[in-house]
Amino acid sequence: MGQKYKEYDISCGKCGTYVLSYHKYGAGKGILRLYLHRIAAPKALVDMYQKAEVVGEIPHLKCPECEEMLGSAVISKGQKWAFRMRQGIFHRKLKK
Ligand SMILES: [Zn+2]
Repeated sequence: MGQKYKEYDISCGKCGTYVLSYHKYGAGKGILRLYLHRIAAPKALVDMYQKAEVVGEIPHLKCPECEEMLGSAVISKGQKWAFRMRQGIFHRKLKK
């Protein structure tokens, strides 16, 4: 298929609410960081992050339903915005 990434659905580990879809590159199994530019859905979130990346202010990643904090906003090496995910607090599900 030539696809270089895997798509994961990320959901809240506390209440199970869907949070976002993510395109993960590389071989590692874990998701330690979510890079904002690889978040694929929902569109409202993607649009918000594209604007925020310009402005440079990213809110921490919270569950839209129960507001559990899932990841903290950080600037990674290479000056890219990312969320450092709290391990064990979120679920990920490989699509397809
Ligand atoms: Zn939740």
